[in-house]
Amino acid sequence: MSIFKSYNNKDPLVVYTVQHSLRQTDVQKRLDEVTLKHKRSAMLGAPEVLQLNANLMQVIGAKKVLDVGVFTGASSLSAALALPADGEVHALDISEEYTNIGKPFWEEAGVAKKIHLHIAPAGETLQRFINEGQVGAFDFAFIDADKVGYDNYYECCLKLIRPGGIIAFDNTLWDGNVINPEDQSADTVALRKLNAKLKDDQRINISFLNFGDGLTLCFKK
Ligand code: CA
Repeated sequence: MSIFKSYNNKDPLVVYTVQHSLRQTDVQKRLDEVTLKHKRSAMLGAPEVLQLNANLMQVIGAKKVLDVGVFTGASSLSAALALPADGEVHALDISEEYTNIGKPFWEEAGVAKKIHLHIAPAGETLQRFINEGQVGAFDFAFIDADKVGYDNYYECCLKLIRPGGIIAFDNTLWDGNVINPEDQSADTVALRKLNAKLKDDQRINISFLNFGDGLTLCFKK
């Protein structure tokens, strides 16, 4: 099953929880299958993480979502399916090549009109939204892009999200490397620094879940 390959998680209890909760449409399953054959398939968001995000979007009545880091579009598709008919997913990525893989699936699922793709460095797009006066206009942000950029994306999203909105970070355990002191690579150092900062950030309430590859949920006060 695809999901277990995506993070190579063989923990039988993790497998059990996913087997007993994952609900994907046929289109979502097929997009995951196509993505897992891609050379950079490790970038696919774990479907159980996307499902939790989608559930959170629905309970907070989200209408406008930021998807920072699209890759082949599974996260945008999941968000668009969770939003009402007038919902908007603003999908930010630098790669036209990867996001093009997702587009036919967005169409097939009937949600393409909800997904607004912005091909540019995410920091530039987020800053543009701030400059355009969209502060507080968004309900939910999923940050799953380059790890060194996470802190900048966080500060921008914190402005763009309304009070009571949620910012979710993927990969905050980074395959366990955050607790490996020998790993001083730029990505790991950036994630460690962000995790330490979020712990005491009084602008948010926080839950750090050992789920997928680590999912940190920030609830804006
Ligand atoms: Ca990810």
